Amino acid sequence: MELRLYDTLTKEKRRFAPLDPANVRMYVCGPTVYDFAHIGNARPVIVFDVLFRLLRHLYGEAQVKYVRNITDVDDKINDRAARDYPGLPLNEAIRKVTEQTERQFHDDVDALGCLRPTVEPRATEHIGEMRSIIEKLVVGGFAYVEQDHVLFSPGAMNAANGVLPRYGSLANRSLDEMIAGARVDVAPYKRDATDFVLWKPSKPGEPSWPSPAGIATPGRPGWHIECSAMSWKHLGETFDIHGGGIDLVFPHHENEVAQSCCAFHTSRMAQTWMHNGFLQVEGEKMSKSLGNFITIRELLNDWPGEVIRLNMLKTHYRSPIDWTVKGLEESAKVLDGWYEFVGDIEPAENPDKIFVEALTEDLNTSAAIARLHQMAHPPVLEQMVLGVSMLGDRTGPDAQSHLKASAMLLGLLSRGNSERKKSLVENAGIDVEQINLLIHARASARAGKDWKESDRIRDELAAMGVVLKDGKDADGKPVTTWELAR
Ligand code: AMP
Ligand code: ZN
Repeated sequence: MELRLYDTLTKEKRRFAPLDPANVRMYVCGPTVYDFAHIGNARPVIVFDVLFRLLRHLYGEAQVKYVRNITDVDDKINDRAARDYPGLPLNEAIRKVTEQTERQFHDDVDALGCLRPTVEPRATEHIGEMRSIIEKLVVGGFAYVEQDHVLFSPGAMNAANGVLPRYGSLANRSLDEMIAGARVDVAPYKRDATDFVLWKPSKPGEPSWPSPAGIATPGRPGWHIECSAMSWKHLGETFDIHGGGIDLVFPHHENEVAQSCCAFHTSRMAQTWMHNGFLQVEGEKMSKSLGNFITIRELLNDWPGEVIRLNMLKTHYRSPIDWTVKGLEESAKVLDGWYEFVGDIEPAENPDKIFVEALTEDLNTSAAIARLHQMAHPPVLEQMVLGVSMLGDRTGPDAQSHLKASAMLLGLLSRGNSERKKSLVENAGIDVEQINLLIHARASARAGKDWKESDRIRDELAAMGVVLKDGKDADGKPVTTWELAR
């Protein structure tokens, strides 16, 4: 099956052909660990988790390597550490902040059903690789030392001949425009306004490492160099897919390309650049100042992780998402319906073909989810003319097991309905034995036409948050099932 992906660099959907199908390599920029992640940060994690799952499905689990870094050196981390642990030496305080935030991040994205990446490298463990790239750039004439800083020069890059890409080509901006748009109060250690920091001196007490390029003062890396170093170490000089949120295209990814291509004399850092759109809340940009800032943790208090995940995937990854409570309520209903439909059936060996085709078309999760709806609700007419309809034999147990296998490829419905119910019930502090006894007593009352008693039991269960549904089994005998009320 052919996978097509939209590439931010060439601005077109292209057939994806891995450099080495036995080693498909993807890098995604991960979190800076200083605070709880917000629901916008969850978007790239979920989107690229689906891509990871799809690549594993297409190329084999052992053939895909997914690297997502952890940025554990940053001014925001230092500020937070100084604020939260004023009595501790800064380095110790920083370790506390980063370890704790990393744990929170893992708990959050685990609850959203995301697989752990193959490698999760930390910036502070790759300072050697950063220094080595910086040395290459200085030797190659792409970077220079000034006042204990090392600066990258996009001007030098664009003046060089050969295979190198043009600086600005990923973000589709020209260097002249960038120079014209740059602010006047340029830092004194920069020769040109567009030059960016690869390495800077550390203030006393701040984390510091021996500097590259003959600088005597200890220092620390700039942000962009981290990802060039970690992707190089774990994926090589060029690899297949590089992803992140749309806000990272410029300057972060543009600068990563500049560093990596100039250091390794290559024309491409990644074959395909993928960027997810932004998440808005109730029609407004999500920001701390507007007060509409929601952490993943807060949402997980109110909604199961799967509901949040489905709600995220309903929108195509490149479109903006408007995050609303109404959307979450609808997603919860859809998931309930699917769980009821599949029950505890084992997944089919393979997911549905039309479903997978939707995903291979630039990760069209909205179309894939529409296909799941169709599988869960086969149109009546198609059931009647079964065999010739596009659903083929996808009704009954076959539809259930294929829906299950397909949803699992999206990281949904990974448990059986009984298990899900059990955990919902446990979380709600409800005793299943007691419910079953009451349902049994109600059935006896109904058999004896004692409607008053039957209603009383129904009300008693309702007060416990349990809603009854009366129906018939395959033989036409009355059966009562139950759900937790929302
Ligand atoms: P940051 O911690 O700000 O570097 O962000 C981590 C990741 O989350 C990056 O890939 C960002 O592009 C992404 N991101 C941040 N805010 C949003 C948002 N509101 N919607 C979608 N992605 C976001
Ligand atoms: Zn990055």
